[in-house]
Amino acid sequence: MPAPLMDTYAPPDLVFERGEGVRLYTGEGKAYLDFISGIAVNALGHCHPKAVAALKSQADKLWHLSNMFKVPGQIELAKKYTDATFADRVFFTNSGTEAVEAALKTARRYFFDKGEPHRYRIITFSGAFHGRSYGAINAGGNPKYLEGFGPRMEGFDQVEFGDHEALKAAVTEETAAILVEPVQGEGGVRALPEQCLRGLRELCNEHGLLLIYDEVQCGAGRTGKLFAHEWAETAQPDIMAVAKGIGGGFPMGACLTTEAAGAPMVVGTHGSTFGGNPLAMAVGNVVFDELTAPGFMNHVNDVSNFLKQQLGGLADRHASVVQEVRGKGLLVGLRLVDDVVNREFVGKVRERGLLIGAAGDNVARLAPPLVITEHDASEAVSILDDTLADVAK
Ligand SMILES: *Cc1c(COP(=O)(O)O)cnc(C)c1O
Repeated sequence: MPAPLMDTYAPPDLVFERGEGVRLYTGEGKAYLDFISGIAVNALGHCHPKAVAALKSQADKLWHLSNMFKVPGQIELAKKYTDATFADRVFFTNSGTEAVEAALKTARRYFFDKGEPHRYRIITFSGAFHGRSYGAINAGGNPKYLEGFGPRMEGFDQVEFGDHEALKAAVTEETAAILVEPVQGEGGVRALPEQCLRGLRELCNEHGLLLIYDEVQCGAGRTGKLFAHEWAETAQPDIMAVAKGIGGGFPMGACLTTEAAGAPMVVGTHGSTFGGNPLAMAVGNVVFDELTAPGFMNHVNDVSNFLKQQLGGLADRHASVVQEVRGKGLLVGLRLVDDVVNREFVGKVRERGLLIGAAGDNVARLAPPLVITEHDASEAVSILDDTLADVAK
């Protein structure tokens, strides 16, 4: 009998029943230390008491309205994000892909509105990942994700990550925007140096382009700032797609824009039935309040510095397996040597009770809940240490 699910994923033979903080438990009660958190999603860990309380309380009141009616939680959360960031306007979505779609449409609409509809092309980078919709796979440009899905969509120009000359040459009269992840996640956990973000901002200013950040994975406090680009201070975007961590595990995303970039998105230009749903907003408000609570980002910075130091030691001890430690904050990659396959390594680590993920470029990816302690980090490093010793044999 064929399986009822499409074969789009290949999960291991392991079922979790419950989660608490940084740990997941199977039905038999076996505990796993979660250092991937649903791919950078469960920022506050599993079943954070305040998030659970907010969700339960909202569930008793009202689940869904659509955007035919005002959702006060949206206005409240949009105000928090606009007060805390470069942004003046927010559109809520259910996922990262939808946030990216909203960002792409907003960029094109901006030039249409200015009477320059010929400016619609968007520059992206090799190794990018922007989601799995038709627009997003074309923006991402990964041949593996495009194969078999018909003609390439017009309007995306991809340049090599880090190739400044190629980037400058790619800007034409038809270019509308540059779309970039300040830290590439799926592509192999590669952080764009801060001076490169500033360089992108300057290039955009010079040519009147919009700068779009995809902070779906690296945002929401993951790098030790509310959003990763804040490390580069002056390199603010015009548009930003966020999701994953901002919902702490409840599906939600958002497209944030400046007033100028967002104003052309008037009634009828975009929409979503579920985006900004009351349940999502109840949780989203709690997540924002926790991320911005006094001391929270200090904790993320302290614990990520500790983890980075420990992983550096690990890489030194196992130089025959670990080529490099990469990333920023609590989005970390171990680039393994070519003859150790990252997916197999992830499986071996899991057998020892630690959950991590794989990313492109043969990277093992760590994206733990932001609430991990140094003790949790030490435990994870110790499991990695044992597994690496095993693999090195
Ligand atoms: C995960 C991810 C997306 C897609 O988000 P979904 O919620 O899976 O649709 C887009 N961009 C980046 C950088 C991501 O990491």
